[in-house]
Amino acid sequence: LLSARNVNKSFGRRADRRQVLFDVSADVFPGECLAVIGGSGSGKSTLTRIMLGLETADSGTVAYAGDDIRRESGLVFQDPFSSLDPRWRVGRSVAEPLRIQRRDLSRDEIDARAAAALRTVGLDPAVFLGRYPIDLSGGQAQRVAIARAIVNEPRVILADEPMSAIDVAARIQILDAFAAIRETRRETALVMVSHDLGVVRHIADRILVLHDGRVEECGSTDAVLGNPQSAYTRELIAAAS
Ligand code: ATP
Ligand code: MG
Repeated sequence: LLSARNVNKSFGRRADRRQVLFDVSADVFPGECLAVIGGSGSGKSTLTRIMLGLETADSGTVAYAGDDIRRESGLVFQDPFSSLDPRWRVGRSVAEPLRIQRRDLSRDEIDARAAAALRTVGLDPAVFLGRYPIDLSGGQAQRVAIARAIVNEPRVILADEPMSAIDVAARIQILDAFAAIRETRRETALVMVSHDLGVVRHIADRILVLHDGRVEECGSTDAVLGNPQSAYTRELIAAAS
């Protein structure tokens, strides 16, 4: 579905210029969950943003087997409130991508799909459609953000540390929301950036390990966590357990 080849990326200028990705290649297949793990600053966000067309590479290619990755993807970030307009009720925030992209749908149909998206993430539309972001907990807001990300039936969802700003008790509900998406929309690919290896073990089919801007290893979840090939991956796993 998505294929990055030999991606290089630097930030800054002149003496401050620093390369953050070195010849990175990565694939995302339809319907799979790919977890991207690695230390802070290893380039996880930059790589995934480049793959989703949110940022450009300095060199290398990203191929997408579809029309327009920007319209056919959904984004979930660390801070759930960053994707919710405080002036809008939940119903409007969730429906907004459809209102913009699907002029062919009736208002009733758009409302029905927004309600269905809320149900998928475990929120009762009767309770939440009319709420404002200020009346949501972090975990509820993140599930609203996920509903918004899935409402237009994207082919790929990028979730960048979607649980790290959520209190531990509510994390399971976020994880359940992603599991429900995987269950109901099997063709949707999920790219999950996370440093929580428990979460990764639970949801990912494959893992890409980044280390200082380079691919350290990539393989099935069982292979990478159960039989890591690189010393760096073994350190990551040891540090997490
Ligand atoms: P974290 O786990 O902290 O989120 P990460 O693996 O997602 O880290 P990136 O956010 O991709 O890492 O950043 C990789 C490097 O690129 C970091 O050193 C970061 O400071 C730098 N960087 C990222 N975005 C920019 C930017 N817009 N301008 C300048 N430097 C940037
Ligand atoms: Mg990041």
